[in-house]
Amino acid sequence: MPDICPKCGLPKELCVCTVLEKETENKIKVYTRKAKFDKYVTVVEGIGQEDVERTAKSLKRVLACGGTSKGDIIELQGEHKDAAKKALVGIGYREENIDVA
Ligand SMILES: [Zn+2]
Repeated sequence: MPDICPKCGLPKELCVCTVLEKETENKIKVYTRKAKFDKYVTVVEGIGQEDVERTAKSLKRVLACGGTSKGDIIELQGEHKDAAKKALVGIGYREENIDVA
């Protein structure tokens, strides 16, 4: 049986409550840029560094895409701006802190 966070009801693996408490003022930026071979990557910036890996994992799962994280930047393969925002809100980030450019 997975560990469930009592606050958000998500498995601990996906839960970002503790980070959110610390970093509620963080601004998250979501934008796409062109990568190689006319493909797009969606960039998510501003996730607290300690939570980047877990958030990247959740986003990749929700969006069913590949991606990488480096420093506090997450790169997702494909064009997922709006879906990424929705997914971030879904895992507990505050909508008003997420800017989609
Ligand atoms: Zn939680």
